[in-house]
Amino acid sequence: MTEFHGWGRYPRHDSALISPLAPGEVASLYDDADGRPRAGLIARGAGRAYGDAAIGDSATVVMRGLDRIRSFDRQTGRVTVEAGLLLADLIGVAMPAGWFPPVVPGTRFVTIGGMIAADVHGKNHHRAGGFGDHVETLTLALPDGQMVTCGPDHHPDLFRATIGGMGLTGMIVEASFTLVPIQTGWISQRTVVAPDLDRALAALRDAAEATYSVAWIDCLARGAALGRSLVYLGEHATPADLTARAGADRWPPAVGGRFTVPLDAPSMMLNRLSVGAFNALYYKRGARAAGQAMLVPWDRYFFPLDGIGDWNRLYGARGFVQYQCVLPMTAAAGTLADILERVSRAGHASFLAVLKQLGPAHGDLSFPMEGVTLALDLPVSARVLALLNDLDRLVVAAGGRLYLAKDARQSPATFEAGYPGRDRLRRLRHQIGAPGRLSSKLSTRLGI
Ligand SMILES: Cc1cc2nc3c(=O)[nH]c(=O)nc-3n(C[C@H](O)[C@H](O)[C@H](O)COP(=O)(O)OP(=O)(O)OC[C@H]3O[C@@H](n4cnc5c(N)ncnc54)[C@H](O)[C@@H]3O)c2cc1C
Repeated sequence: MTEFHGWGRYPRHDSALISPLAPGEVASLYDDADGRPRAGLIARGAGRAYGDAAIGDSATVVMRGLDRIRSFDRQTGRVTVEAGLLLADLIGVAMPAGWFPPVVPGTRFVTIGGMIAADVHGKNHHRAGGFGDHVETLTLALPDGQMVTCGPDHHPDLFRATIGGMGLTGMIVEASFTLVPIQTGWISQRTVVAPDLDRALAALRDAAEATYSVAWIDCLARGAALGRSLVYLGEHATPADLTARAGADRWPPAVGGRFTVPLDAPSMMLNRLSVGAFNALYYKRGARAAGQAMLVPWDRYFFPLDGIGDWNRLYGARGFVQYQCVLPMTAAAGTLADILERVSRAGHASFLAVLKQLGPAHGDLSFPMEGVTLALDLPVSARVLALLNDLDRLVVAAGGRLYLAKDARQSPATFEAGYPGRDRLRRLRHQIGAPGRLSSKLSTRLGI
């Protein structure tokens, strides 16, 4: 048995560890060495889901050994890759050839299989949809040991259930998708200062034409400044844009962990005072840079936290949870204000707080819906868990839902209220013999 946890380091569970090294091995893992059926398996990529989604009820199948790029057409940008390939490694090969993934989450240390299973969204969801919208075909090892290739036009029900399906329809072995052309590895970034929540939401709405948009939100601001934000808009820079920056390397290499958190930080380090001081400074500095376009290397724009190795240890040994909800546009302003007000009043300091605009999604269990998403990191404690139960009620009342890839603690009732596609996924799971065989700590907790 091995102890597993997600990126939030909460909760922790024991599970057997299985590590296939080649696609051909995966389907046979549904049976043990004596040919007896195994129960409670789930695939795991890089373990960047925050909670318990990538921990098998009995056994966890770590897919990182399947990390080959099978084909890469440098004329069209089409790639076929094994599911355990790290996004960072794909970018390392594709970028110098002038290609970039169509959708990336906030860290590049995720696998392609994990990106499909969570149907991850990037800063361009309002324009480009989720990663799953770009998958052309994927090969899946089903619980009966069959390997099936599916896509939007081929076994579409299985495909729709697998996009965002959190590994509950089978183990993704390979996937094909097309990269987008880029001319440089730089992003031309413009900052819009939003002194309160209404203006932050308006700035995101007004930025519908921007390729990328995201808001950093000062979750400790209160009163008239509640929800004050810096909204970052981004476009892929052209070689002409680079002339403004003398000596700029057209394809800047990723800067590795500039700093690593060596030990669990004392849990009081990220408190209201320290985060409040940081937020005030950060907002002031951002406001000074507003208006002018600046060039930012791709890794700093898309993956700012990747520069700090093991930053999840900043929250102390008990770990932390990320609370990520999405709210339909009509309810967003009122419910977000209520959530921010309660978090701020409770004195909980979230070091990271982000707002994004999302469009519709197409997987049965995909998280995005047309509306606004808020993500907050909070250290685990009994008080925080009680506060989050209160926030769940606001989200459910507003017709929103919580992101399964971030979840470690929502109740089955909150899940049921938020995901209308759940019964379709359940029916499909029955058809393919998944219940019992494919289950994670998350799926058992939520009764999926
Ligand atoms: C710093 C940070 C920033 C993030 N930013 C974003 C963001 O902006 N947008 C966003 O959408 N997400 C974001 N995430 C969440 C992350 O993108 C997802 O959790 C993603 O699924 C992690 O990929 P992984 O390879 O680590 O998968 P894991 O965490 O290992 O697994 C996640 C899920 O995918 C399933 N899975 C993994 N591999 C396979 C496979 N081969 N076959 C079938 N199922 C599989 C697992 O069973 C599990 O349900 C962020 C996470 C971090 C830590």
